[in-house]
Amino acid sequence: MTSVAEALAFVAQALAVKKSSLVRRQAEEILCCALACDRSFLYSHSCQQLSEGEWLCCQDYLSRRLRGEPLAYIHGVVEFYHCQIKVTPAVLIPRQETEILVDKIAKTLARQDLHGKVLLDLCCGSGCIGIALKKQFPDLTVVLADFSFEALQVARQNALDNQVDVTCLQGDFLEPFKGERAHYVVCNPPYISEAEFNELGLEVKEFEPKMALLGGSSGLEFYERLASDLPACLFPNAQVWLEIGYLQGEGVQKLFQGVPWKGQHLENDWAGHHRFFFLENE
Ligand code: GLN
Repeated sequence: MTSVAEALAFVAQALAVKKSSLVRRQAEEILCCALACDRSFLYSHSCQQLSEGEWLCCQDYLSRRLRGEPLAYIHGVVEFYHCQIKVTPAVLIPRQETEILVDKIAKTLARQDLHGKVLLDLCCGSGCIGIALKKQFPDLTVVLADFSFEALQVARQNALDNQVDVTCLQGDFLEPFKGERAHYVVCNPPYISEAEFNELGLEVKEFEPKMALLGGSSGLEFYERLASDLPACLFPNAQVWLEIGYLQGEGVQKLFQGVPWKGQHLENDWAGHHRFFFLENE
């Protein structure tokens, strides 16, 4: 028989041997997943014995973690801007930078009348951006689009779980939205270059979908496609919000010069890096 405290010590010890970072914190998270409890339970019930099933589950999660699998996939769900977002290996794990993006957008949308307004979340992956915004602004019509059928299945489930009504479209980039127009477009496209991809940590490189990370050999491919194809899908004075790689500010700015673009500007993430590019069309 193993108590909660013993299980916690066992998991922490195994992670320490593998030189994992934040050992105690990770051990707590593994236990919380296996026991479906919160952190405080681990300490208020430290003498409680684990059932055989819980102990097996704990060991399974530990061995997956030791092989490098991100905790988010092991847990299967992450918190993102007041939403619980399900994640599978078919979708990118939502990043904190993307929450900053959603927060910036929410501040802008809060000042506008959203009745009859359409927001497109392009390359939606798990759907985290569009779903979080729809939850906050129910008047908004939200369309999620992604190339990956598997990702859209996850996004659809996330919309259901978060009780929001959104439209999901599958197809290559803007193709499924052809003939439609949006008042707002948000896009966090794959933006890693081939050279950068090789430098990524194993957890990202081996577990997250390559398709959601790689933006062609330069990393700018999706911004190039946006610059040429997006205008046809926008109402006049539409607002466009893009997440970018922190070294891509200059490159992206160059792509969106002149007609029909206006109001182009870069914004920073909390690390002070250029991480977002915002603009409007005429
Ligand atoms: N829009 C999703 C996110 O921000 C997926 C992004 C992607 O797959 N590149 O997490």
